[in-house]
Amino acid sequence: MRTKLVAANWKMHKTLRDSKEFVGVLLSQIKNTPEIEVALAPPFTALATVGETLKGSRVRLAAQNMHFGGQGAYTGEISPAMLRDVACTYVILGHSERRQHFGEDDDLINRKLVAAFENQLIPILCVGESFQERHAQATEKALERQLRADLKTIAVEQASRLVIAYEPVWAIGTGETASPTDAEQGARFLRELVGLLYGSKIAESVRIQYGGSVKPENAEDLLSQLNIDGALVGGASLDPHQFAAIVRAAARAMKHA
Ligand code: PEP
Repeated sequence: MRTKLVAANWKMHKTLRDSKEFVGVLLSQIKNTPEIEVALAPPFTALATVGETLKGSRVRLAAQNMHFGGQGAYTGEISPAMLRDVACTYVILGHSERRQHFGEDDDLINRKLVAAFENQLIPILCVGESFQERHAQATEKALERQLRADLKTIAVEQASRLVIAYEPVWAIGTGETASPTDAEQGARFLRELVGLLYGSKIAESVRIQYGGSVKPENAEDLLSQLNIDGALVGGASLDPHQFAAIVRAAARAMKHA
């Protein structure tokens, strides 16, 4: 059975003090859910501090982005080795906000994925259709275009470690959530596509999260779906009580499996 992964994407939020307070509350509230893997993606400035605060706990550290290069003259960028240096396990790549506001295309995301695997980081690769694509009944076409291009040079051994986040762009930060049926349909389609690309064994083991306005109230229904192996949470991850409630909802959802 795949272990569910619930990850917090704090985006450009939280000072060091806020981050430490958050971790203190979170750890006390998720003690009874050891079956769920939890990760926090703070801003770069808080990675080292959050990493220290998480030491000895089961919560993993994730970065929100990275550069693909080893080192060099890339002002303002952070390398994969630097993320390893602060004990990151995961790195979020291809988030729609990076694609939309920072012009990241599938080629660049592919290079970042290669670099992540080379540096023993586990990428959480975000893909999702836009509002227009959904309304043009082009959801699957969009998912296929992104996934094929992002993974174009990724080998089968690497693909087995991948996490995919199905994040409909229209649901991110909008309060509008995909219905559990629609979220499941997207996740199932992605799993089938992974099967076509890498075979059924990899397809069965790859974890596919759902992201897009996940909250304590809708998490259990979403996470009970057969092909949904966790959540990538933005807005609701800023409050440790809400985020912990989502982790607990994931644990209840596992009991239905
Ligand atoms: C995200 O940023 O990945 C996300 C899913 O955000 P939100 O939960 O706020 O929709």
